[in-house]
Amino acid sequence: MSRQWAFYFDTQKCIGCHACVVSCRVRNDVGTKEAKWRRMEHVGEGSFPDYKETSVSMSCFHCATAPCRQVCPTHAIEKRERDGIVTVDQDKCIGCHYCAYACPFGACQYGDDGLLQKCHLCLGEGAGDGHGKPARQKPEDGGATAACVDNCVTEALKAGPINEILREASEEAANRYSESDVGPALVVEPVTQESHDSIETTDPTG
Ligand code: SF4
Ligand code: SF4
Ligand code: SF4
Repeated sequence: MSRQWAFYFDTQKCIGCHACVVSCRVRNDVGTKEAKWRRMEHVGEGSFPDYKETSVSMSCFHCATAPCRQVCPTHAIEKRERDGIVTVDQDKCIGCHYCAYACPFGACQYGDDGLLQKCHLCLGEGAGDGHGKPARQKPEDGGATAACVDNCVTEALKAGPINEILREASEEAANRYSESDVGPALVVEPVTQESHDSIETTDPTG
């Protein structure tokens, strides 16, 4: 593989605003309410009055080993050679949900047709405008930044080739990435006391 694309997430910067979730839905025209290619998880710790909550933005992490791909009986799931992005061929999917059982991150989603759909990293083609216009593939057009990344108001979420991501990450986050066994292409900054803001959030996508 020439290069693996990866996500970067900084727990200290995320304010749990759901802009990433909504922008993914718009960019990719995800029509069903149930299918969430990106979602927010809120991890709580402690009890009142010392309860703290951390927001974590989740999607498919385009795993090195792609367990979903390994169990798919119809070879509907591909891990692209050129960038490691894991894609789905819905013409081959039979909706058996084996991939959902194999995925450790709850990334496999299904539409009204019962077929697998999930984050495809905007295919590395940038956000576009979400209304049928071409993706912005060149830096002079705004770069090839995924919609969720493009719309993150605090730059808590980033995506790109793993060597670039690791250059920006803290040493602890980079070490965590190399220790990973399943191989999710995700570099995540550790939770600290500062990132434990008490945030009250509601999911606008329901
Ligand atoms: S996160 Fe889940 S759906 Fe995505 S590549 Fe890994 S196993 Fe497959
Ligand atoms: S639901 Fe579709 S993509 Fe998933 S394992 Fe079954 S055939 Fe493959
Ligand atoms: S990279 Fe694209 S498809 Fe994946 S969660 Fe972000 S907006 Fe959605």
